[in-house]
Amino acid sequence: MDFDNAFRIDPGSRVRLKDGDADRSPGADRAEGERRLAEDVERIRDAQHRLFAEGTRSLLVVLQGMDAAGKDGTIRHVFGPTNPQGVRVAAFGKPTSNELAHDYLWRVHQRVPDRGHIGVFNRSHYEDVLIVRVLGLVPDEVWKRRYEHINAFERMLHDEGTAVLKFFLHVSAEEQLRRLLKRVTNPAKAWKYNAEDFTKRSRRPDYIEAYEDALSRCSTEHAPWYVIPADKKWYRNHAIARIVADRLEHMDPELPPLPEDGHAWREKFANGDD
Ligand code: ATP
Ligand code: MG
Repeated sequence: MDFDNAFRIDPGSRVRLKDGDADRSPGADRAEGERRLAEDVERIRDAQHRLFAEGTRSLLVVLQGMDAAGKDGTIRHVFGPTNPQGVRVAAFGKPTSNELAHDYLWRVHQRVPDRGHIGVFNRSHYEDVLIVRVLGLVPDEVWKRRYEHINAFERMLHDEGTAVLKFFLHVSAEEQLRRLLKRVTNPAKAWKYNAEDFTKRSRRPDYIEAYEDALSRCSTEHAPWYVIPADKKWYRNHAIARIVADRLEHMDPELPPLPEDGHAWREKFANGDD
């Protein structure tokens, strides 16, 4: 199963988000998906080690989705076993007054991964064409010109050595409600409760429309969007881990060789003289 091909949005194509697509699980059953996830997580860990040693490039993974779409769970399952020194997670919530005193990309640019690291965005600059649009936090002409800024920004990241992969975690209205209800019925999940989740869900068609526009306008060769069926958590983890692992292996970071001046030390000591 080629997840990259199956779920990547071709540049210029029009995305339609249908509820019926969210619980698909093409190409794997649960047992197989979980086994492959374990393999792919190892591949990510190994490639990240080489990326760090190489120290010249980075990977940015953007996660977007409605409330309870599973962004946190994805981070735990896909990146949990990778060396914490090599992964930078950044969550973007409501902007602070300091953040609002700057342009919307200011806080984002500060948190892109250092060279050698994987950066994971739990929400991102896309909020500035999603919730900001739906709630009308800025005039229409302001959010409408942001798609172009975002494409240029991501292009710059790519050109300067940061590969960008973007995942929309597609959860159906029904599954989203089921998960949100757990926050009010299961005491262990009560800490996640936020009344806004329910009010936002009542505007779901507006969010879907905003997502369809963002995914359609900002899936590019250099920073593709993927629509991941995410009603089944095991499938979501499996698909994302596979795409990330394949991408890292394609980047093929290399362990650097011993520098010239190291050779003299090797000559001096490696034959056991010390
Ligand atoms: P979960 O998916 O588990 O509900 P979450 O990502 O919603 O978690 P929260 O801290 O509950 O995490 O919510 C962050 C909130 O901040 C979201 O509602 C998001 O839409 C909002 N937000 C993010 N960026 C912006 C922005 N630029 N302007 C306004 N709101 C924003
Ligand atoms: Mg939330």
